[in-house]
This record gives sequence, C-alpha cells and structure tokens, in this order.
Amino acid sequence: MLGLMQNWPLLVSKILTHAEINHPEREVISMQPEGGQVRMTWGDIARRSRQCAEALAKLGVKQGDRVATLAWNTNRHVEAWYASSGMGAVNHTINPRLFPEQIVYIANHAEDKVLMFDITFLPLIEKLAPTMKSIEHYIIMVGHEHMPQTSLPNVHSYEALLAAEPGTFEWPELDENTACGLCYTSGTTGHPKGVLYSHRSNFLHTLVCLSTDTLKISATSTVLPVVPMFHANAWAIPYATAAAGSKLVLNGPHHDPETLHKLIKDEGITVTAAVPTIWNGMLAYIKANNLDMKPLELVTIGGSAVPRSMIETFQKDYGVRVNHAWGMTEMSPLGSVGSENGAIMDLSAQDKLDYQVKQGRPPIGVELCIKDDDGNMLARDGKTAGRLMARGPWVIDSYYRADETALDEDGWFDTGDVAALDPASYIQITDRSKDVIKSGGEWISSIDLENEAVAHPDVTEAAVIGVRHPKWEERPLMIITVKEGKTVSRDNMLEFLEPRCAKWWLPDDVVTVESIPHTATGKISKKDLRDQFKDYKLP
Ligand code: ADP
Repeated sequence: MLGLMQNWPLLVSKILTHAEINHPEREVISMQPEGGQVRMTWGDIARRSRQCAEALAKLGVKQGDRVATLAWNTNRHVEAWYASSGMGAVNHTINPRLFPEQIVYIANHAEDKVLMFDITFLPLIEKLAPTMKSIEHYIIMVGHEHMPQTSLPNVHSYEALLAAEPGTFEWPELDENTACGLCYTSGTTGHPKGVLYSHRSNFLHTLVCLSTDTLKISATSTVLPVVPMFHANAWAIPYATAAAGSKLVLNGPHHDPETLHKLIKDEGITVTAAVPTIWNGMLAYIKANNLDMKPLELVTIGGSAVPRSMIETFQKDYGVRVNHAWGMTEMSPLGSVGSENGAIMDLSAQDKLDYQVKQGRPPIGVELCIKDDDGNMLARDGKTAGRLMARGPWVIDSYYRADETALDEDGWFDTGDVAALDPASYIQITDRSKDVIKSGGEWISSIDLENEAVAHPDVTEAAVIGVRHPKWEERPLMIITVKEGKTVSRDNMLEFLEPRCAKWWLPDDVVTVESIPHTATGKISKKDLRDQFKDYKLP
C-alpha cells in the first residue's frame, strides 16, 4: 500500500523560492572579481536568477543542456547555478585550478553549450576557446562597463543580458531525479570523471547540512563558504544558506588571510568552512598580528586530514569549535562530520580531542562500512582498517557517460579511502588506497605521520610516501617544508616523532624541499611526489 501524501518534487528551485518568500531581506554580500563589493538580498538573488534563466533560454539553452561556469564564489555564480538547474539544464562547475588540457577535456566531455566565466579567466578562455568544440556562447560575468576587448565569438556581458529580462520566469516542475549539476573529480590518475547530481540528491543533501550536528547552518547564521563553488558544490553552502535563510558572504577571488579576517569582523561571520591549507595561513596571520576571530563559532574543515594542533589552536586560543569533516565529489560531498554524539559527550575535553582528529561520523542518509580486498565486511573495532565503502541517496551510482556502475555487487561505492570505523561510529581515514604504504605486509598510515610532523614547531607542511625497499617492499619517506630561516634535520624529526608513533613507522629518511606540489583541489599531490622521488635511495 502506498502512502497518501503529496508528491512534491525535491527541486533546487524550491530552495530559492523558499528564500525569496520567507527570507527576502536576508543579505547576500559578494566581493567582485572586477573589484568592489555588492550588497544584495535573497530576494534580489531570486529575481536575478530568473532573469539569468530567461537570458539563457534566449541563447537557446534547453532542458538537459550543460551550462558551464568557471568562476569564484560570487552572487553571480550563485545566480547562474540556480538559473541553469532551475530551468532544467545542468549546471557544470569547472575548477579553474585544473590543468588547461583537463579543462578542455571536461568541457568537451560534458559538451557544454554555454560557458559563463569571471573576467579573471579571460586570457585562459581565449587560449582554450578554439579547442572547446561545443560552446556556442561565452558570458563574461561583469557589467557592460567592464566588458573587455576580446577575440571570443558570441560573447556577452552577464549584467547586460540580465538587464534586458523581466525576471518573471516560472521554474518548471521537473521530475526530482532530473540532472541538476555536474562536477568532475580532478582525477589523480587517468581523465577526470564526471559526477552528475540530481535535484533530489542535492535537496536531501542540503537538508542534512542544516543540522546542528553537521554544518550548523541556521536562519541566524552568517556564513562564509571559503570552500569554492567549483569544489564539490562549496559543500552545499549556497543551497543550505538559502534553505535556512542565513546571511551569505562570498569572498570572490580573495583567499588571503587578511581579506578573510576582515570579512569575519566586518560581516560578523559565525560559520565558515574550508580545507586545512586556508586555515594554516589564517592562524599564522592572526597570531602574528595579535588578532582574534570573534564572532566566529564554528569552522568545518575537511578535504584533507586536519592536524590535532590546528584543532587545539582554534578551540583553545580562539574559542572556535572545529568540526572535522570527510567527503568527496562523489558524495555531494558530505560523508561524515565530527560533531559529538551520545557515546562521547561525557568524555573529558582531552579525550574528546582524540575523536575530533578522526574524520567524524555519518549523518542520516550516509551508510558506511569497511571491506577487505576480497569484499568481506570488516569489524568496526576502531583498529581494523579496510576499504571505506559508502551508500546513500547523495552517493554516486555511476560516472557521467560511463558504461558501468561505480558500485560493487552489494550496491556499495568504494571511496578509494582506507579507514577504520570505531564502536562510537567515528571513522578514521588512514590513507587513500593508492597512497597506502605497505611495509613488510603491514600498512603504515601516511596521514598519521603527516599530522604528527606538522605539530613540529618549525614545520609548515609534511607529506609521506612509500619508497621501494629491497627487504620491506616499501618504507616511508617524509618530505617537509620548514619555516623561513629554520632547518629540521632527519635526526631532529625522528626524535620528535619517536614518542608519537610506532617505532617501525618512523620514516627511513626526511627530506626538506622548497615547496610540496598540490592538486587542483588543494591536496598534496602524492603522485607528483612519487614521480619526483622515484629513484630515491633510502639510507
Ligand atoms: P579530488 O578527488 O578531486 O581531490 P575530492 O574533494 O572529491 O577531490 O577528494 C575527496 C578525497 O579527499 C577523499 O576521498 C579523501 O581521500 C580526501 N579527504 C577528504 N576529506 C578528508 C579528511 N577530513 N581527512 C582525510 N582525507 C580527506
């Protein structure tokens, strides 16, 4: 027997309409790539999104077409998202930090029809345009007065397009399983792969991001999503803030600590989110200038492992709660968040910290398990590590244009991470499966070693990779960068690490370099490091 309730499709246009009706005066503030800042409201964003949809329809965009963006976090980018998805087209966010060949590959693979981009990227787009075969129109996201001279064909000013439209567009009632957004993973091996979100998956994921146990986004929050919209939907913040009716603050192309700190102070940011690298810079800046972070309450950090020292500094020195989160493009991206649960709520602050350095626990809507290489379920004992598998309504089923499913025979998606699950339901990522170091048949966690190494007062960044070894198959090699004017010798680092990890985990060598390579999503590129140290002879 079926239930007798309404079939109200879960569409992202309904999120925007909710904000327009119920929170029309709540502010959206945006720094602009051409300079300056605009102050708008959710009412303005809703009207401008409709104008944008009208303009796209005039350019020939139909349901199912892909509309690409290459843009920073701005009000225009938010509008472009809601416009293309809302009208039934697919909003394809391209990460500008990808290599140019990868940008061309994914624009062609997605067969993007329109490309909307920030003026920052004009030289890049002019260079790539002849190879991006499917694009019929280019929209530069500026006003008429800032339109540059350009060799691009069919090029328009975003603001001029919007100004010509009435903003009366009616969002169509689509099937909730209609494709909504497309995001390619940066692909550490092979070509990038497309993850195609649906309206339903984004809507459900948004609801979970509102919870006090996840991103804690509410009507009274002021939210700065430092995490870019081209990186896994800015962790759903442009949807969640509209759904909650929060004030949204967008930092445009600016990621420097000074600008971010000024926004926290000027706009009264209470909630923010970003990868650890951003906070490294921010904490150093705040300390050097003797500043505080008031009124910030919560920072969600994920994308790579968050070192214990970072969590402690935020909480002890500045009174800002850290929620360590884990996720991936294939999971929309939220997989787990490190808020407290009943199993740990009565522990001492120090014991709670042992859980905070783990990657958190799954919210409702995410199921996790660990399996061995043969597909057998492993124990949730906090010690056994295995392949971390996930399933749920916002987890990928198959990649865009792939012939096969991305799931195993029981319907689980292999995240490519290696993790242990503990009895309190917290996960601990020990490695990516392709980065695992196997020494004498046993796994060494590169993430644990890196976390310990960055607690060294003179170290700025650390990476550990496996290097071939005649007896042990592989042994760990640690690569570090150090603070200006400082040196950290191998012996000094080993002495520092010795009380903090198992003896047989200690790296065979420690090498200091000028800089460590990063991927387009800001993670340490172990692949590049492995290439660089391919023939390294361990002592
Ligand atoms: P890409 O795969 O393009 O680098 P993603 O954001 O999709 O970008 O990367 C997801 C991966 O990032 C996860 O599979 C995991 O390896 C890593 N990751 C994300 N959050 C954490 C975390 N808190 N701790 C450790 N690793 C993390």
